[in-house]
Amino acid sequence: MNNIILFGGTFDPIHHGHLHLARAAAEQLNATQTLFLPAGEPYHKTTPRTPAEHRLAMATLAVEPHPDFAVSDCDIIRSGATYTYDTVQIFKQLYPSAQLYWLLGSDSLLQLHTWHKWRDLVRHTRLAVAVRAGSSLAHTPRELQSWLGTAVQNGEVVLLNTTPPDISSTQIRHTLATGSDVSAWLPEAVSAYIRQHRLYI
Ligand code: ATP
Repeated sequence: MNNIILFGGTFDPIHHGHLHLARAAAEQLNATQTLFLPAGEPYHKTTPRTPAEHRLAMATLAVEPHPDFAVSDCDIIRSGATYTYDTVQIFKQLYPSAQLYWLLGSDSLLQLHTWHKWRDLVRHTRLAVAVRAGSSLAHTPRELQSWLGTAVQNGEVVLLNTTPPDISSTQIRHTLATGSDVSAWLPEAVSAYIRQHRLYI
């Protein structure tokens, strides 16, 4: 079976936590391809985010050294709400014989019950999850508890044997805004892009 990982995120900016997570998932799942899917601009007013063209460019620079990683603008070019359920349907049509995995950190998994059509989503793709610092699965909300236990047993949710570095895009944006160095948290090409375009200052 051809395993393909879909990795959605804001990637504002992409960092070593994302790349560690993707590498660990690709190895554990024996995936042939990992597709990073930067989110589009918010379709309704929420927290501001960096324009999609910059987030897409930074993700493209970050995956360049990894031949099995690629970036897709699928969630950027669609208009209106871009639900994960719809994204997965698109990739199911593109790769009908592949096993798709949606990759996420435990902080995102703990919100899954708030996602559009989440029960349908988990019927159409498997989830690959890494525990993120501060988001223990011991805190799984009541709405997900019984589903999660069964899904892990059935292999519909795969828990990754890895602990990604404790880095977040929020922490990077805040640190850059104070003029401090973030180079340890990002690929050098992404740091250079941020400097060149004077982002997050
Ligand atoms: P922000 O701080 O802006 O919320 P973020 O660092 O969480 O950003 P996102 O682009 O929102 O990054 O994350 C995309 C996905 O990657 C999410 O499922 C998130 O849980 C996961 N992820 C991001 N950073 C890590 C990390 N350090 N460890 C484990 N999972 C992570």
